[in-house]
Amino acid sequence: MMMYPDARTLLHGIIGHPVGHSLSPVFQNAAFSALGMNAVYLAFDVSPADLGDALRGVCALGIRGLSVTIPHKEAVIPFLDEVDGDAQSIGAVNTVLNRDGRLIGMNTDWQGAVQALESATSLAGKKVLVIGAGGAARAVCYGVTRKGAILHVANRTPEKARALAEAFGGTWSGLESLDRLNASILVNTTSVGMAPDVDCSPVPASVLEGVEVAMDIVYRPRETRLLREARAAGCRTVDGLAMLLHQGAAQFEIWTGRMAPVDIMEEALAKAISEKESA
Ligand code: NAP
Repeated sequence: MMMYPDARTLLHGIIGHPVGHSLSPVFQNAAFSALGMNAVYLAFDVSPADLGDALRGVCALGIRGLSVTIPHKEAVIPFLDEVDGDAQSIGAVNTVLNRDGRLIGMNTDWQGAVQALESATSLAGKKVLVIGAGGAARAVCYGVTRKGAILHVANRTPEKARALAEAFGGTWSGLESLDRLNASILVNTTSVGMAPDVDCSPVPASVLEGVEVAMDIVYRPRETRLLREARAAGCRTVDGLAMLLHQGAAQFEIWTGRMAPVDIMEEALAKAISEKESA
């Protein structure tokens, strides 16, 4: 029986600020353990002022892979040796691979969103209504348009919806009159509905009529008010854990070159979130 960690343990982690709430260590470590790999994944709270030092530390300490979360997804770019095409198009990095001392920036958030949606429906030719125009919305818009969907972005601040829609060839609006759009897929990328404000929804329930699939990228609570109302309106629903899971599984595969044990990761994630919800 091998005893890990030891002097050969491969290091991975997440940098963010704050980062104490992150569920990524739970499911990444569950994956390493399920495959019997001598590897760990830790959480590092890195303030914006320390970001450059932290990235130099990644090279100096030989950390193999990093997840990057709020507020560093854009700020990390100047500290990397290379940024791949997906991350350049999205303008944000959520994954760093240390390839022989060169730091490569990538983005798996779009893959997480697309895989989560594709577990419920196809995207090509479908009208997708993306609510929100922040960082996560950019990854969702990139992903769905890459898969051939027709995009409409609606945001509280319409100018931001316009900039995002123009970047990805979609139409845009504020949050009013969305029920006339006849979208078949709706994705909430705003933080509206997130605990503790669980009674809020980004759009009135009338917008959900006729929608085939509704996804919320908020994952605390797992069933948001939007998803509850979507279920009542007869939509298929996809929760935010699915995106979190699939973006993390894609990261695991980038760092290790091995197929991610998605079922094990999902089980660990679902257990961690239900423990947090009942705490
Ligand atoms: P962000 O860049 O700060 O963008 C926030 C968005 O929410 C903006 O469009 C903002 O509209 C909108 N918004 C905030 N409060 C609102 C309100 N009261 N009414 C209407 N719109 C409001 O944040 P982000 O990085 O995109 O993250 C957004 C959410 O996604 C967070 O809850 C985050 O935890 C979650 N997320 C989940 C995953 C996952 O894997 N499941 C991945 C990434 C992010 P304005 O432009 O008008 O301010």
